[in-house]
Amino acid sequence: MSHRIVVLPGDGIGPEVTAAATRVLEAVAGRFNRRFEISTHLMGGAALRAGLPALPPETLEACRRADAVLLGAVGDPAFDHLPSSERPEGGLLAIRRGLGVYANLRPARLWPGVDDAGPLKTELSRGADLLIVRELTGGLYFGEPRGIDRNRGTAFNTMRYSTIEIERIARVAFGAAERRRKQVTSVDKANVLETSQLWRSVVTRVADDYPGVTLQHMYVDACAMALVTAPTRFDVILTENLFGDILSDEAAVIAGSIGLLPSASLGDGPGLYEPVHGSAPDIAGRDIANPVGAIASAAMLLEHSLGLGDPARAVNAAIEQVLQAGHRTADLAAGGPSVGCTGFAQLVVDAVRA
Ligand code: NAD
Repeated sequence: MSHRIVVLPGDGIGPEVTAAATRVLEAVAGRFNRRFEISTHLMGGAALRAGLPALPPETLEACRRADAVLLGAVGDPAFDHLPSSERPEGGLLAIRRGLGVYANLRPARLWPGVDDAGPLKTELSRGADLLIVRELTGGLYFGEPRGIDRNRGTAFNTMRYSTIEIERIARVAFGAAERRRKQVTSVDKANVLETSQLWRSVVTRVADDYPGVTLQHMYVDACAMALVTAPTRFDVILTENLFGDILSDEAAVIAGSIGLLPSASLGDGPGLYEPVHGSAPDIAGRDIANPVGAIASAAMLLEHSLGLGDPARAVNAAIEQVLQAGHRTADLAAGGPSVGCTGFAQLVVDAVRA
């Protein structure tokens, strides 16, 4: 059985962490008797340097033909003087749009063995393991009309949601909860916003199709507080675009390092998987980046795009095992002994094969 995976290393530490994740995928293929056809394509500053746009048409075409896409990171200070539409980061919006991904999945968990890495008190965050499902293509960021009237000194945006948009993202969240601890917290501001009132009624109706999953509604302000005072109470958090943007960054503090965070963006075609971090030019080329975000993104790819639940669990278990054995990349080592990006990946590969 063969699966087509496109890898877009991008810039900075992107090539280092995607190389690490690719080696883990190859180990998975060996252990679980699968064939992954992995091809690498240009994107971001790497594409600009080759005289191509940040998202070359042939890269997008390859992504569309694939079963899933693994992206490193884009961003290169050499292009920071260009207008934003011509910078490497322009490729990010283009690929999300080009693949039609509307659901962003951001897990946040306290990895066992690095309990002390985050700023939250360990007794609050130990055992925290949640997933934020954020609507990615609607709401305030895309709603029309929008604009600034400089003469009057006013500006406006439109928060708009349709039943179809809410229903499809709700189904992603309930589907994910069925594979987890079977609890969805839908986050809105239904005491103030009409979009949230529609959101709440559609989510409540969709919940009827998932009798095994418990649904709870929560206001966004209360959720923001609970994320840092009682993060273990959450399993899947379902929310709209703006609230999800803010809450997913807040939830990221649970993990302790930006290098530990994976993500998935899903639509009706191939899914897009990427670590949450950027290209980190300050540490690029030194083999010190933490590859866990990229490797855990590859685990999400196995689960969500390829339907390979057991291999995905094996990868996450391997990461856990390596962290619990005390191996740390520099971002987690607090000045103590550390292992490089390549060395950490090798430890995960060995654990997957074992
Ligand atoms: P960043 O995430 O690249 O780095 C922030 C800090 O975290 C840096 O100190 C960096 O060294 C550290 N860091 C990040 N990832 C790490 C890892 N895996 N291991 C260890 N340390 C890690 O964010 P930034 O510095 O604001 O942005 C750098 C470039 O990346 C910019 O060009 C920005 O536009 C781009 N960017 C791209 C994406 C993306 O590709 N999705 C996301 C965010 C930023």
